[in-house]
Amino acid sequence: MLEVNGRAYALPRAPTVVVCVDGCEPDYLAQAVAAGEMPWMKRTLAEGTALVADCVVPSFTNPNNLSIVTGAPPSVHGICGNYLYDTASGTEVMMNDPKWLRAPTILAALAAAGKRVAVVTAKDKLRALLGHGMQGGICFSAEKAGEATLAGNGIENVPALVGLPVPDVYSAGLSEFVFAAGVKLMQRAADRPDVMYLSTTDYVQHKHAPGTPDANAFYRMMDGYLGALDAMGCVIALTADHGMNAKTRMDGSPDVIYLQDRLDEWLGAEEAPGRSQAFSSPTGGGTPRSGGPGGSRRARVILPITDPYVVHHGALGSFATVYLPGNGEFDDAARRIAALPGIELVLARADAAARFELPADRIGDLVVVSERQAVIGTSASRHDLSALEVPLRSHGGISEQRVPLVLNRRIAGLDTGRRWRNFDAFDLALNHAQG
Ligand SMILES: [Zn+2]
Repeated sequence: MLEVNGRAYALPRAPTVVVCVDGCEPDYLAQAVAAGEMPWMKRTLAEGTALVADCVVPSFTNPNNLSIVTGAPPSVHGICGNYLYDTASGTEVMMNDPKWLRAPTILAALAAAGKRVAVVTAKDKLRALLGHGMQGGICFSAEKAGEATLAGNGIENVPALVGLPVPDVYSAGLSEFVFAAGVKLMQRAADRPDVMYLSTTDYVQHKHAPGTPDANAFYRMMDGYLGALDAMGCVIALTADHGMNAKTRMDGSPDVIYLQDRLDEWLGAEEAPGRSQAFSSPTGGGTPRSGGPGGSRRARVILPITDPYVVHHGALGSFATVYLPGNGEFDDAARRIAALPGIELVLARADAAARFELPADRIGDLVVVSERQAVIGTSASRHDLSALEVPLRSHGGISEQRVPLVLNRRIAGLDTGRRWRNFDAFDLALNHAQG
């Protein structure tokens, strides 16, 4: 038995694979199964365990991947976005660095207990967080598979092992590489992993709606690899970091609420003296801007979806936090934001931290969530939407909170009435599905 973040986990008796399918709205599975594209999934839903769970809000990639591997919400592990405003340094920074992580992972605890652990993630942005504290074991990204070394990643010559070239970061192939690597690692009889965590990318889900030919092709691909892992005797738990929805107006353009522009109209766009007027790009982490607690009169909108891979979503999601200037306009600003068309919810910091289990010291004065069809931007001038080739699909809100939680073992006596979370995946896989 291990104890990690207040929860107990049994050591695996069978090889155990937890899969996080990025952006897997449950309807992707439903449509692909109905179309006959996922025979393994169809059987697993009927004979195994099929739950719909809630992910963490903000329904973004990093907070949810870290919740799954720690078995805990962001209030415990500290990762509440891909991106945050660091009040200590007054800069906007990426949250990829393990220094932001406040809790140990189940993966590290399993490795410390002598289990062989393997982690394969599509994008490199998650690798350091997922592998943090893991002594021994294997941890690499498909994106940088060609650069993996024994010393740094516990494995080398990955493309040769997988038998596929390293794919482009914007491709369905990046996720296929993750699954193919997982199957190859599991086939290595000498050092087969006891526990494996596979995390894909939502490139396909950002572009293609459930049931469309490209989406179904992706899920057919995935089904084949999952079936191969099942045939090797693996216990499989499949969940997702978040769902995905169309975020468009009727004319197909993105339905964006430019919140920084609105706040600048209401509160003034004046920068503190001596500070730069220049906007950093949404990806320009580390550029100091005035606003927030620094004494400026200007509000600061932070979009925690922001990451180095903005091509398919333009850094537009359904969740934002706002740092307000400290001049008592708090209630007024909250009320005015809440009245904007497309806004679902505005919460003050303490209420947001309590409701969504977020670290209060890493969110703004306000948390703003938009409705299913709308996304929140900063200033219109800061978002480059020219790279959006198809109508925007994105996530981040409460409307993307439902995700699958599927195991290839039937768990007797399961309470299907309780609220399941995607971060129950390791609990179900290790404590209830080992047979
Ligand atoms: Zn994601």
